[in-house]
Amino acid sequence: MISTHRNIGLGGYVIRNVLVHEMIHYYIAYNKIEDNEDHGVEFMKLAEALNRKYGLSITKKIDASSFKRNEKASKIFWFFTKLFGC
Ligand SMILES: [Zn+2]
Repeated sequence: MISTHRNIGLGGYVIRNVLVHEMIHYYIAYNKIEDNEDHGVEFMKLAEALNRKYGLSITKKIDASSFKRNEKASKIFWFFTKLFGC
């Protein structure tokens, strides 16, 4: 179980959405799925399926507003953007 959100002051729901967003990018790249853009049709098919199944709210863009209010969270968000480019 990931409990990082308690240490950086973010809700688990936010962290979960960010991690799943990035995992979709990984899944698409690992399986060599062709998409029309970074957050294209295939990305959104997976995101919408996971949103329905697990009650998530994965979107094309990560809402960074909650990260910018918190220095530790901001550093983690920077790491994600450098690692995955989104
Ligand atoms: Zn992305």
